[in-house]
Amino acid sequence: MKEILPDPDFILWTGDDTPHVPNEKLGEEVVLEIIANLTALIKQVFPGAFYSEKLLGPNTKGRMIVLNTNLYYDSNNQTAGLEDPGGQFQWLEDVLTNASKAEEMVYIVGHIPPGFFEKKQSKSWFRKHFNKRYTEIVQQHHAVIAAQFFGHHHTDSFRMFYSNGGSPIAAMFLAPGVTPWKTTLPGVHNGANNPGIRVFDYDRGTLQVKEVVTYYLNLTHANLVAPRWEREYRLTEAFQVPDGSARSMHMVLEKISKDKNYLQRYYQFNSVKYDLTACDESCQTDHVCAIREVDFLKYEECIKARSFTAVSSLPAKPLLFLCSLLGLLRFQGHLW
Ligand SMILES: [Zn+2]
Repeated sequence: MKEILPDPDFILWTGDDTPHVPNEKLGEEVVLEIIANLTALIKQVFPGAFYSEKLLGPNTKGRMIVLNTNLYYDSNNQTAGLEDPGGQFQWLEDVLTNASKAEEMVYIVGHIPPGFFEKKQSKSWFRKHFNKRYTEIVQQHHAVIAAQFFGHHHTDSFRMFYSNGGSPIAAMFLAPGVTPWKTTLPGVHNGANNPGIRVFDYDRGTLQVKEVVTYYLNLTHANLVAPRWEREYRLTEAFQVPDGSARSMHMVLEKISKDKNYLQRYYQFNSVKYDLTACDESCQTDHVCAIREVDFLKYEECIKARSFTAVSSLPAKPLLFLCSLLGLLRFQGHLW
C-alpha cells in the first residue's frame, strides 16, 4: 500500500480482524488477544467505538462517521431484543442532522453491511428491524451522505439506495478483502477472492467519489512465481461512468443488469479476478437484486420478479407468454 500511495488523506478499516477458521481453532482467548493487539494499534490512529470525526485539511466540510454494525448482526444474541443497541441509531441521526446544519458532507463506514450477500440468495446479515431502521435513516438523510463504505463480504460489490420515487440517492461500496476468504457458507460454490486494495479519489470540498482504483494480488501467480500487486481496474474506465456518485453507480447497475459483457466484467471483479467462470441468469439475478434492493421485502420481490421473467422467457407455451405480459404490466412502475 505504501508503494501504491505513500501519503493518503485517510485509511478506511472495514474489519474482519480475526481469521475465518472454525471456532475450535480459535477460542475466546485467542480472539481477545488478536482484538487487543489490533485495538492497541488502531487506537494510536483512530479513537473510540462508534464515532464521528471531522476530516482534516483546509476547505474541507467533510465528516467521517464510523459505525459498529456488529450490533445489528443476526448472529449477535446480545442485541437481539433491543430496539436501538448502544443508542447508535439515535446518535447517527443526531450526527447527520448536525452535519446538515453545519453544511457538511459525510462518509459512513462500517463492517457488516445491511442488505443481502450477492453470492447466496436471500442471505442477509442484519436483523430485520435493524435493516429497516438503517435504510430509513439513509433515505431521510441522503442529502449529506456522500458515500458509504463497508466490508465483511470479502467480495467487490456495491449497494444502491433509492428514494420512494425510485431516484438513486446513495451508494455503498463494499470493499474486496485483503484476506482471501474461502467461504464456508453452505451453497456458495467456489466462493473465494484474490486479495484486493483500493484507492478512492474524491473531491475534498464535496466528498464526491471521483474514481475508484482497485489493485489486486493474483494468488495463482503469487504461489507459482512471486507476489505482485497490480492494478485490476478503474471504475470510470471499466464501466464508462463519469464518477462514483449514486447516479453513476445506478448506471453501473443498469449496465450489469442489461448487458452480458458488463455483467461478466463486474462478476470477475466481484471475486477480484479469482472466479473467471460465467455468471449465468440465476447468478445475475442474485447479484442484481442484492445490489438494487437493500430492503428485505423489495429484495424478495426482485428475486421473484426476475426468476419469473427468466422462466417465462424460455421457449414459451401460450400460457407462459400471457403470464410474462402480466408480469411486465405488474412491474412497469418499478425501476429496472
Ligand atoms: Zn466479517
